[in-house]
Amino acid sequence: MRVQRVVTPPLAANSYIIKDVMIDCGGDAEFILKYISKKDLTKKIKYLFLTHAHFDHAEAYFALQGIGAKVAVHSADAEIAKSNPAAYGMLLFTRVNPDIYLTGGEIFKFNSVKLEVIHTPGHSPGSVCYYDRDRKWLFSGDTVFAFGSFGRVDLPGGNAVELINSLKKLTELDVDRLYPGHDDVVEDGAKREIIKAYEIARRLL
Ligand SMILES: [Zn+2]
Repeated sequence: MRVQRVVTPPLAANSYIIKDVMIDCGGDAEFILKYISKKDLTKKIKYLFLTHAHFDHAEAYFALQGIGAKVAVHSADAEIAKSNPAAYGMLLFTRVNPDIYLTGGEIFKFNSVKLEVIHTPGHSPGSVCYYDRDRKWLFSGDTVFAFGSFGRVDLPGGNAVELINSLKKLTELDVDRLYPGHDDVVEDGAKREIIKAYEIARRLL
C-alpha cells in the first residue's frame, strides 16, 4: 500500500494520501487542488481526515469538500471557536464545517485501509491520531514527530498534562511506521521514538 506524502504550504505540514483517503490537506487550497489534479486524483479522494484544526493542516479543507470529499475532524477542535474566539483572531484554528464529527474510538474501513481514531489532546483539544493496527502505522499530526520530538502546548487550547497523557497512550500501541504532521516519516521501529518523546515530554513540560 502506497502512502503519498505531500509537503504543503504555508508551514510545511505533511498531507498524506492513501488510495481515496487524505489525512490533512495543508493551508493552501490552490496548491492542494493543483497537486490533486496533476496526480489525477480529483475524482478519487472521498475522505479528508484532519488530525486537528490548525490552519497549516486544515485551512484548505473546503477545496476537498468542493471535489466531493467528506471532511472529518474532532468535535473539540471544531467547537473551539465558541469557547476561545481569540484563537481565530490569531488565524490559528480553521473554522471547519465538517461532515463527520469525531470523538475518538471510531474505526473507519475503506477497502484495505482501516483507520482507528485515537483522541490525543494536548497540542490542541481535538488533536487525534489515526492508527492502522494491522499495518502498525500511526498518522500522528502534531502530537508526536520523529526523533522523540512532540507538539507544542503553548498555543490556545494547548495543555501540557494532556499531551503527556496522550503520548503515554501512544506508547501502548505497536507502531512501526510514524507519519507525523511535519518533517520526516519514521520508516520502522517508531515505537522507540514515541517512548522517547513521552520520556522527554515528562521531563520538560
Ligand atoms: Zn498544529
